[in-house]
Amino acid sequence: MTGTAAAITAVPTIVRPLRPCQGRHVRAWRHVSPGLDGGGRPSGPSPEAPRPAGGVPSGVDRTILHADMDAFYASVEQRDRPELRGRPVVVGGSPEGRGVVAAASYEARASGVRSAMPMSRALRLCPQAMRVPPRFDRYGEVSRQVMAIFRAMTPLVEPLSLDEAFLDITARVGAYGSAAAAGRWLKAEVRRATALNVSIGAATNKTVAKIASDAGKPDGLVVVPPGGERAFLALLPIRALWGVGPKAEAALVAAGIRTIGELAETDAGRLGRLLGPRGAALRDLACGIDERPVEPVRARKSVGAETTFARDLADGDELRAALARLAEETGVRLREKRLRARTVVLKLRYADFRTVTRRTTRAEPTDDDEAIRQAASALLDRTAGPGDRFRLLGVQCGQLADHGEESQLRLWPRCT
Ligand SMILES: [Mg+2]
Repeated sequence: MTGTAAAITAVPTIVRPLRPCQGRHVRAWRHVSPGLDGGGRPSGPSPEAPRPAGGVPSGVDRTILHADMDAFYASVEQRDRPELRGRPVVVGGSPEGRGVVAAASYEARASGVRSAMPMSRALRLCPQAMRVPPRFDRYGEVSRQVMAIFRAMTPLVEPLSLDEAFLDITARVGAYGSAAAAGRWLKAEVRRATALNVSIGAATNKTVAKIASDAGKPDGLVVVPPGGERAFLALLPIRALWGVGPKAEAALVAAGIRTIGELAETDAGRLGRLLGPRGAALRDLACGIDERPVEPVRARKSVGAETTFARDLADGDELRAALARLAEETGVRLREKRLRARTVVLKLRYADFRTVTRRTTRAEPTDDDEAIRQAASALLDRTAGPGDRFRLLGVQCGQLADHGEESQLRLWPRCT
């Protein structure tokens, strides 16, 4: 990684264009750090054009935030128990019970402790760490509070886990003045309500917003202006790209492709040979192109099945067989209700209770077991890494249409 990318990850940073950037590609950045909440307002005119109230004209760049709480479980513990503040804290099961680290405070991370590491190893790296057993009910409560703040900003909130979500604020950004101002408002509101820090990335799409929030951690706010996506991504390692799992990373590195910029410049045919059909999609992401909409979860509108295993499973025949059964069950339920689904969601709970959902959207709705299994299986390919063990697996189908609604559904715009 070069000096520029290192500078982005080293400190809370706001990235913004040197000048307003309407309709122009901006390649220049200014890094202002840290002090976002104590000043740091953009000088000069706001880069965003005023939006007409009540709607978003087509052709307008989207503004998507990725909001991610910093060291969530550990921060909740430090907030609730003042004696833990300023000290290295690891949340997770006991080393005797072969527990793993569910979350580590930044003080513990300084000693090399990371999530999903065996607790015994974490305590060897950081012997002075305070181990705290997880309290998932408590984290769920705080999560509901935080998600409610997100939804006060826009109904278009797509949660990815207890502590992170995408927000499409395209229609709302005018009310705040700029994406940076909206991000500052959200950070301040979360802090006021929960006394916790959230890091925020703002960009025209999900991939770039997610990477931007990570680049600013902890307590960061990173704004990537329209047109600046590709330059922002170029110097980062490929593993920073959402969707590049350990397998794809190994294949790309073996081919000499190490940065997202190098991936963006690789010939599509060559990428196809390296990565299969996903190559083209990954190349788009590397170029900063990602049209996927923010998809709010509609609880009433999904059909699915999940299962908790008697013992944690690694990726392998047993896990894949369970996936096939869940896909079949989901297909049966869809056909019983005469529904077809456009989105397939994979839910995974790791041995350390971390729960993630991954979704994919199909061009055409389906109620076919095998189509659902393939979609969920591809999501699992991208998510499961070596050493991961899972205690729960779920398959859910969303964006449902009954057979008569399908033609109507196709006419819907992909996002707003
Ligand atoms: Mg987080």
